[in-house]
Amino acid sequence: MIIDDTLREGLQTPGMSYTVDEKIKLSRLIADSGIKRALVSYPSAHWSESEVTKRICSDGIFDETFGLGRTVRSDVDAIAETGANISLHLPFQFDDTGPILDAVKYASKKGRLLEVSVVNIAKYRTDDLMKLGKMMEAAGADVVQFPDTTGQASPKLLGAVIREARKTLKCQISVHCHNDLGGALSNALEGLHSGADFVDTCIYGLGERNGISDTASIGRLMELEGIHTGLNYEKLSKAYEEVLNLILKKIGPGLFIDNFPVHGKNTLVHTAGTHAASSGVFQGAKYSVNVYTGRSMISNILNSHGIRLSNEKLSELTAEVKDQSVNTGLTLKVEQILKMAREKID
Ligand SMILES: [Zn+2]
Repeated sequence: MIIDDTLREGLQTPGMSYTVDEKIKLSRLIADSGIKRALVSYPSAHWSESEVTKRICSDGIFDETFGLGRTVRSDVDAIAETGANISLHLPFQFDDTGPILDAVKYASKKGRLLEVSVVNIAKYRTDDLMKLGKMMEAAGADVVQFPDTTGQASPKLLGAVIREARKTLKCQISVHCHNDLGGALSNALEGLHSGADFVDTCIYGLGERNGISDTASIGRLMELEGIHTGLNYEKLSKAYEEVLNLILKKIGPGLFIDNFPVHGKNTLVHTAGTHAASSGVFQGAKYSVNVYTGRSMISNILNSHGIRLSNEKLSELTAEVKDQSVNTGLTLKVEQILKMAREKID
């Protein structure tokens, strides 16, 4: 089954930002195309993400709406308050699984569906991935996701991990495949062949760096192999038109050049706070700044221009940057952020 991630992962596309109304309109078009399950937001990142999720849930736009967060209790609460199902991702680096398990168990008592994404499959040994998967299942996860976070897995590796997971776990399994090396479609299909129940996709294959598996392409390929998707492609094309309008308005047609795998320059651009903050892999990368941008990314930008703010002023600035991005529906340029920071020093 397809889980559309255009509203959450798609918001990590370099140069992309949505207003609340744009997100709601897009969610309706996506649901009209036959998508039943969608990951729509990151509620702990910004008030607008909570608001969008509440509206999508209360209007019953999707059968199953999910919000994403970290494996911490405050993120679980932020998602649960919206009425959405809960999707959590493990930190990119950790020594102690205690706090992670505490948050997963806490989430499992909220009476919602619970998906937990374990760590980057290209970096960890398969037996360590299985240990984590079993831990998450025992802690109450209904779905364990094995993500190719950095887009460095081959179909062979991804297939081997999912076949092992299918043997090891009783719960459902999902895959999330990034396209840095152009493998997002083949990896996702290999995941489904190997026993995955769900695959994350985005319209136009949008997402962090150069994106993930494309919704329509996966749908067509699944159907070629006799897997029912329930998609109505005529209606889905309306959602593609809407996303294309947003891309052309906010980013321009160059996105399709920059998103090309391997050499495309978007393979080096990051949006998400947790990605930029906690992974050595992403150091020295370029940033795209919107509501998902965390304090540490703003701090990095300021530091590299010789500006230092107190913790309090940094938090204030981060909140203002997020507000401005969601109000205008645009990402912020470094010069705008530096100007806002300098006004706090004067
Ligand atoms: Zn992703």
